[in-house]
Amino acid sequence: MDNPIRTFVCRESDPFETRVALVPADCKRLASGGFSIAVQTGAGLKSGFGDADYQATGAEVVPDPGVPAAMAAADAVLRVRHPERADGMKKDALLACFLDPFRERPLVEALAAAGVRVISLEMIPRTTLAQKMDAQSSQTSLAGYAAVLAAAARLPKAFPMMVTPAGTITPARVFVIGVGVAGLQAIATAKRLGARVDAFDTRPAVEEQVRSLGASFVKIDLGGETGQTAQGYARELTPEQLERQREAQAKVCEKADVVITTAKVFGRPAPRLVGADVLARMKPGAVVVDLASGTGGNVEGSKPHEEVVTPGGVVLLPGDSLECRVPQDASKMLSGNFTALLEHARDRETGRFRDAAGDEILSGCVLTGGGRIVHPRFA
Ligand code: NAD
Repeated sequence: MDNPIRTFVCRESDPFETRVALVPADCKRLASGGFSIAVQTGAGLKSGFGDADYQATGAEVVPDPGVPAAMAAADAVLRVRHPERADGMKKDALLACFLDPFRERPLVEALAAAGVRVISLEMIPRTTLAQKMDAQSSQTSLAGYAAVLAAAARLPKAFPMMVTPAGTITPARVFVIGVGVAGLQAIATAKRLGARVDAFDTRPAVEEQVRSLGASFVKIDLGGETGQTAQGYARELTPEQLERQREAQAKVCEKADVVITTAKVFGRPAPRLVGADVLARMKPGAVVVDLASGTGGNVEGSKPHEEVVTPGGVVLLPGDSLECRVPQDASKMLSGNFTALLEHARDRETGRFRDAAGDEILSGCVLTGGGRIVHPRFA
C-alpha cells in the first residue's frame, strides 16, 4: 500500500512490565490495512513473541541503535506504559499508551509542547462503540483473575471444600471489595476454585451481578447518595460514608481468608477502605491483595510491587498491574484494543489519521495536539 502509516512498537522499559503493545497476529492485520509496522528488538520476548515471529508477519525488527531514527520517522508510536519524556517523536505523530494523565500532568504538558498527539488509553470512552478499544477493561479483568491465583498460591489453606476420610476441609472465604471489571473476574475465579465469596460495591446496580455469579452481596447502608456517574463509574463517598463502610466491612474481613480490593474512583485517589486496625483483627495467614495499591491504595501498608507481612501475620500481596503475570493473554487483548483504535483513527479516504474533533471516541481520549492540551478535562 502506498504511503502507509508508519507505526513503531517500543520495548517496554519498566522492569515490572512484561507486556507488549502489539502481537504478531495484529501486525499482519494492520499491514494489510494501511499501516507499516516496526518493532524494537526483544519487545515481545517477555510475553512469548520472538523477533522472528514479528519478522514472519513482514514487520521490521529494529535493533537498539536504530531506535532513535525509527522513533523520529514514526507517524504512530505504541507503548504499554508512558515514556518518561516527550523527546524523539516527530511533530504531529500520534502516541498511544497508558498515560496515567491525572498524575502525569508535567508529561502531558511536555507532550503537548513537543507537538505530539497523545492518546490516553485510560480516557477511551466506555461506550458500546468503543468497547473493542477498552484497554482498561481488558487488562483489569485479567488482573482480577491473577489476584485470586496469587492469593490461592500464598494462602496456607485450600480454596475448595474437600470431604476426605481424614476430615473435612472447609472452603476458603473470599471477600471482594469493589465489583467493577476486576472484581467481577475475581469473584468468578474464586468461585471456580471453590471458595465461598462475599462482595461489596457502592454501586447498587452491582448486587444482581454478584448474585448471578453465586456470591453473596454484603449490604451496607451508607446513607445519602452513592450510585454511579453517566459513564458507569462510582461516585466518590463522603468521609462519613467511608467511615460507615469501613465499620461494616470490618466484620466480614475478620472472617475472611482472602480479601481482594479493587475499589477505585475515576480521576481521584483510591479510597482507603481497610486500615491497620482491621488488619490487626484478621486471621494470621490471611491474604490481602490490593489492586488499587498503585493508585493510592485501598489497604493501609500495601505496596504496589512488594509483599508486606503485618505484625499479626496478615500477608499483603503486591497488587499493581497483576495482568503482567499473564503477559501473553494480556498482550493479545491489549494488542486487539490498539488495533481497533488505529483502524478507527485512520481515515479510509485519506489514509491518514483523522481529526479528533467531531469524532466521539477520539475526542474523548486524545489529550494533546497542535502544540497544546486539547482535552477539556485537562486543558
Ligand atoms: P473502577 O476501576 O473505576 O472501580 C472499580 C470498582 O470500585 C467499581 O465497581 C466501583 O464502583 C468500585 N468502588 C468505588 N469506590 C468504592 C468503595 N468505596 N467501596 C467499594 N467499591 C467501590 O471501575 P471499572 O471496573 O473500570 O468499571 C466500573 C463500571 O464501568 C463497570 O462495572 C461497568 O458498569 C462500567 N463499564 C462500562 C463499559 C462499557 O460500557 N463499555 C466498559 C467497562 C466498564
